[in-house]
Amino acid sequence: MVEVTEAGLRVGAAASIQGLRPVVRAIIEELPEHKSRGFAALLETMSVFASTQIRNVASIGGNIVTANAVSDINPFLLATGATLQVMDTEGKTRDIAVEEKFFLPNGQTSLSRGDIIVSVLIPYTTEGEFVQVYKQSSRGEVDRAVVNAAMRLVLTSDLQIVSDVSLVFGGMGDRPLLASRTMKALQGRKWDRSLVEFACSADMLPSDLPLAPDSQGGMVAYRRTLTLSIFFRFFLSVSEKLGRIWIEKRPAL
Ligand SMILES: Cc1cc2nc3c(=O)[nH]c(=O)nc-3n(C[C@H](O)[C@H](O)[C@H](O)COP(=O)(O)OP(=O)(O)OC[C@H]3O[C@@H](n4cnc5c(N)ncnc54)[C@H](O)[C@@H]3O)c2cc1C
Repeated sequence: MVEVTEAGLRVGAAASIQGLRPVVRAIIEELPEHKSRGFAALLETMSVFASTQIRNVASIGGNIVTANAVSDINPFLLATGATLQVMDTEGKTRDIAVEEKFFLPNGQTSLSRGDIIVSVLIPYTTEGEFVQVYKQSSRGEVDRAVVNAAMRLVLTSDLQIVSDVSLVFGGMGDRPLLASRTMKALQGRKWDRSLVEFACSADMLPSDLPLAPDSQGGMVAYRRTLTLSIFFRFFLSVSEKLGRIWIEKRPAL
């Protein structure tokens, strides 16, 4: 089930990744560009997800509950503030926000025993809101991420100042991690090049995402460097989009 609601896109938990792709693509075409930036990022995530064979059977609900540290879907849901509709063993439904405490160490979630995820609600984005996803793997296709990330930025109405930002990284711990300190520190800052230097300074992203030298998966220096280069890519991507928006808004000469 996929439903376009007033609050966003509601996706049935049993929907397969492959089945969802054309549906989400069609919905994006119907919506204003600014409203569907999160859905475009979801489409991108699904296009780098495993292989067609895996995508044909892998469901969105199964991916959430598997709670793998390099899940491609879970950082996206965390960054975009998705909500799960969950049914308990007595048939009662409730909503659970996908937030930092939802994912527990070692592939666990805070769902109770017997809970079934019925659907996932992904909110619309607004005019000053931008969402991007990144996946760095050893091969371009059919490979799990070494590091992946989902990032969401909300700018003030003049598109200059950070009003809110979510920076979520997979592959940097035993579950998707939020760079909480950096996220907080970026609020109220001007969206310009100095912000990149600030976010990448030693006591920001690197200290939010420490990896012990003997971390599982190895490639510690590489993974730590990736978090910075991914943030830089996010900065460039949003700045390029802002450039286009400013050109569109500029009064005709
Ligand atoms: C070769 C290979 C490559 C892969 N590559 C990637 C990749 O690139 N990116 C990535 O993110 N993942 C990847 N995966 C992981 C895999 O795709 C996910 O684990 C998949 O999404 C699980 O979905 P499923 O429907 O098969 O779940 P299942 O395996 O059927 O279920 C997983 C668990 O979730 C529970 N569950 C399922 N649905 C629900 C629900 N609605 N409510 C409550 N509990 C539920 C089940 O009971 C079970 O405990 C890969 C897996 C393989 C085998």
